[in-house]
Amino acid sequence: METAETRKTHSQFKHTLPEWVWEFHGHHCPFMPIGWRMGLAALERLGIEREKDHGLFVFSEMGEGHPQTCMMDGLQAATGCTYGKNLLTRLYYGKVAAVVYHPGRGALRLALKPEIQDEMGKFEFFVYRKKGIEPSEIPEAVSNEVINFILSKEDEELFTIKEMPNFQYKPTPGSFNRVKCSSCGEYVFERYARLKDGQVLCIPCSNYEKNLAKKVEL
Ligand SMILES: [Zn+2]
Ligand SMILES: [Zn+2]
Repeated sequence: METAETRKTHSQFKHTLPEWVWEFHGHHCPFMPIGWRMGLAALERLGIEREKDHGLFVFSEMGEGHPQTCMMDGLQAATGCTYGKNLLTRLYYGKVAAVVYHPGRGALRLALKPEIQDEMGKFEFFVYRKKGIEPSEIPEAVSNEVINFILSKEDEELFTIKEMPNFQYKPTPGSFNRVKCSSCGEYVFERYARLKDGQVLCIPCSNYEKNLAKKVEL
């Protein structure tokens, strides 16, 4: 829970997180603020604002099954590249890094420096986490120590930031076209409709595997 005391502690830093971001994420941990800082650093360097519509894309190098994935909530909050707007893609590399791409301004890759990851590992927060204690159960003073460590750093201390001049991405074009599955009667957007024995079916009714083309070229 965010308290007056936490706000006071965090607000001494240039890149304090608004309260709604903590509420959205649900607990106090260091990786969400890392994503927030990563997103802000990218916006600043690309010379753009938080995305309102569909013009900015984040490719997180996170995978699954490691706690650092909290970073992606901070990235979404800072950049406006939300999962729901399909502006956030997970690359499953298992790395604390992301590419932020604006079609007019280019792409930047931001990676959390190994030294920072090593230093973070010394904080008591991770003693709790390695015992399987969830962040919301960890004493606030313990979480704040490592969060403040992150917030007190300059962008260049936290991240390696590189331009990616050859980065290309073609977003899936939007379409409102839909058809009715001839088996279950539900609507399915055309891209996901399947033809089987002359019948238009949705994926579950067709028993076809979902097959999304790989669209990212690094
Ligand atoms: Zn978290
Ligand atoms: Zn169906």
